[in-house]
Amino acid sequence: MALTGILRPGHVQMRVHDLQASVEFYTNIFGLLETGRDAAGRVYLKACDERDHHSVILRQADQAGSDFYGFKVLNLATLNELEGRLRDYGVATERIPAGELLETGERVRFRAPTGHLFELYAQKTEIGDGLGYVNPAVIVDDRKGLSPVRLDHWQLHGEDLDGSRDLFVDVLGFSLAERILCEDGERDMAVWLSCSNKAHDIAFVRDARSDTSHHSAFLMESWEKLLYAADLLAKKRVPIDIGPLRHGITRGTSIYLFDPSGNRLETFCGGYNFYPDMKPYTWTWDEIGSAIFYHTRELNERFLTVVT
Ligand code: FE
Repeated sequence: MALTGILRPGHVQMRVHDLQASVEFYTNIFGLLETGRDAAGRVYLKACDERDHHSVILRQADQAGSDFYGFKVLNLATLNELEGRLRDYGVATERIPAGELLETGERVRFRAPTGHLFELYAQKTEIGDGLGYVNPAVIVDDRKGLSPVRLDHWQLHGEDLDGSRDLFVDVLGFSLAERILCEDGERDMAVWLSCSNKAHDIAFVRDARSDTSHHSAFLMESWEKLLYAADLLAKKRVPIDIGPLRHGITRGTSIYLFDPSGNRLETFCGGYNFYPDMKPYTWTWDEIGSAIFYHTRELNERFLTVVT
């Protein structure tokens, strides 16, 4: 299927305690590029291979976490169509005017059953990746730090997993790629959903702590870059939750780390190509260790308990 409808995770607004210290971390260590600041004091960042103006917005706040998660859709007709579908399904939507986020068109905002605030948008100023569009070079100059290539996916936690899963699959056109079953062998404990050719664009985990984020993930180009990232994180004394490691789910490789405010980030690499005709993989409760951490087959306490 050609990509239509929802294209990809496009931006996330994250709350940070100390804005300047966080900008320092996200630019010099994590390796995103600052692309703007707005009148509200928010800082806009993008990864090196992203062409749109930003994928991360940092907002100073007392409590860490994420305010909202935005998906880019194909065009304005798609935006209107998806808004109509949400309303027909009984989901209230709100239009956020163009320009409320820098260089971003009108957004359609709605709250999912897991409590998270999502938004869809069709327009964001393309500032390019610095390589040009004619005979581009293959190397982006002056990459700093970990330098992930793009925003990849989110793992979000909430009580009504069934509600968010059904909304994303039945209304927004996502496909179920993988699931972990609850101990009862019937209900979903967690689901991995794709709107693209990626093994997942979003994951939901059943958790009484609704409207929380487990991590925002960014794509690395190779296992070598992932290993370098771990070396650099260790050198810079950045707290690593766990990794480098292999996931059973998606078969991706990964490091989980914390930003200075305690927001968990993932650097993710690999994973199979997903097509919407593929039958979902199912993981049983007794194999949850292998599903998440394939080599050690054991979940660590912090990975299970810390969300923001
Ligand atoms: Fe992830």
